[in-house]
Amino acid sequence: MLTITGQSISSEIAIGMIRFYRHKKNIVQDAVAADTDTELSRYQVAYHTAMEQLQLLHDKTLEQIGAEEAEIFEMHRMLLSDRQFHHAILHSIIQDHKTAEYAIYSVGEELWNRFIHMEDPYIQARGADIQDIMNRLLFLLSGKKESSMDATEPFILMAEDLSPSETVQLNSSKLLGFITRQGSPYSHTAILAKTMNIPALLHIDINADWDGHLAIIDGEKQCAYIDPPEDMIAQYRNRKASMESKRRELQALKTLPAVTTDGRSMALYANANAPADVLSAIEQGAEGIGLFRSEFLYLNTQEYPDEEVQYHIYRQVLEQMPGKHVVIRTLDLGADKKSPYLALEPEENPALGYRAIRICLSRPELFKIQLRALLRASAHGKLHIMFPLITSLWEVRKAKEMVAACMEELAAEHTAYGNPVLGIMIETPAAVMVAEELAREADFFSIGTNDLAQYTLALDRNNARLHDFYDPHHPALLRMIRMVAEAAHKENIPVSICGEAGADPALTKSFLEMGIDALSVAPNSILPLKKTIRELSLTD
Ligand code: PEP
Ligand code: MG
Repeated sequence: MLTITGQSISSEIAIGMIRFYRHKKNIVQDAVAADTDTELSRYQVAYHTAMEQLQLLHDKTLEQIGAEEAEIFEMHRMLLSDRQFHHAILHSIIQDHKTAEYAIYSVGEELWNRFIHMEDPYIQARGADIQDIMNRLLFLLSGKKESSMDATEPFILMAEDLSPSETVQLNSSKLLGFITRQGSPYSHTAILAKTMNIPALLHIDINADWDGHLAIIDGEKQCAYIDPPEDMIAQYRNRKASMESKRRELQALKTLPAVTTDGRSMALYANANAPADVLSAIEQGAEGIGLFRSEFLYLNTQEYPDEEVQYHIYRQVLEQMPGKHVVIRTLDLGADKKSPYLALEPEENPALGYRAIRICLSRPELFKIQLRALLRASAHGKLHIMFPLITSLWEVRKAKEMVAACMEELAAEHTAYGNPVLGIMIETPAAVMVAEELAREADFFSIGTNDLAQYTLALDRNNARLHDFYDPHHPALLRMIRMVAEAAHKENIPVSICGEAGADPALTKSFLEMGIDALSVAPNSILPLKKTIRELSLTD
């Protein structure tokens, strides 16, 4: 048995078989072919198999889902059989003596790059289709039976790193946990895993030889055991069962209020990244949704969803939480969250770059689609719209002006809409320093401690090496949170915390003392947090 230690994101346990997930780039190791004829026939076999697979997928989708959904596979067949694309790959193999993988990868990347820089958003979105086709061919060439991302048996995924868009694609019913070399507990990937209740161990010197071996992840001890003995597996199965029974016991608190022994109450909301998380939030007795990260819905779509699609999703979220507080955050894309249809240019400092409200304000055609959808959905519940990454007053005023313009448009079209509450995230030091002015413009504040820590402590929240320096208890951060709470209350608006620090029981008492009105946390953290609050007294 081998014991490996890393950083975990929760105290959960996972027991299962390791599957090694290789990124597309890792597959392309050799550029120059040893034998051109072999490469040519490997490509031809992969090409014909891909064409057959796409035909089957098309027919099955047509039969079981519908014509519109099936069309995508027909389009993939057309792209794959496109003469120019096909000939460019053949040329690279025959004339330039490249391997089939290299030829597909280089021709595909070139085409992808061309597509995503096109003016026409429809053509831009075809970039994602090119990537899909490349991945299909490369996967077929790898000779594997199935991708670890689509496994049929439960597994522990091992990878160099996982991006947020890869994580949202994971089939969470099969994924027991993951082990990666990169990543940090405050990255969006870790946050997604936490919301999906998946244990993860980061900062591990991973080894491809562990593929197919049994492992245990012990989140509490921040370690994993590879090839554990039978008695240890039995022990961990018992521990897992007792953790589950403790979780069931906590269900008794579901309908009780989160109030300290001396009567101070705190609203407890859930963070959600997908409509499925809203169901978990209800199961855990959330009083509402304090942060719905809308951008995760659109990370893997081929193109930016239209108003109708967005309207239905937001309306669904509101209807799942009838009469309850629901905060939907407007698109917070950019930095580590990249969508192909946005065609974002590479940046030197993505965390300090073109992201969140900055993208929305400079691309009104994109932002207005979301605002109109949100306004229409707000006729069906208690919607709060929240703008992320605010640094200046003008950004809030501009966003509000755009909301007002969308309302006018909808009224002129006689389309029904509601009157949502408009608030902002406080997640930059600049916003903290002008919090009083912002509080006169916003209806509520929600403090994003993940980014506030990143920008205050001057460290990249995704960098695994900085873990020891990322201190959510840093006095600078706690003083800032206190300042924001004071500014909000001076202007009579509520203030909540929706970053990961909100679920940290060591900070709960301080947040109560500062007068924070609500905490919004991963669904599974609600009941443990409620237990902490109900055992606390502010007068001790
Ligand atoms: C935050 O920054 O604390 C936050 C809640 O937003 P996100 O983690 O999505 O950046
Ligand atoms: Mg943030």
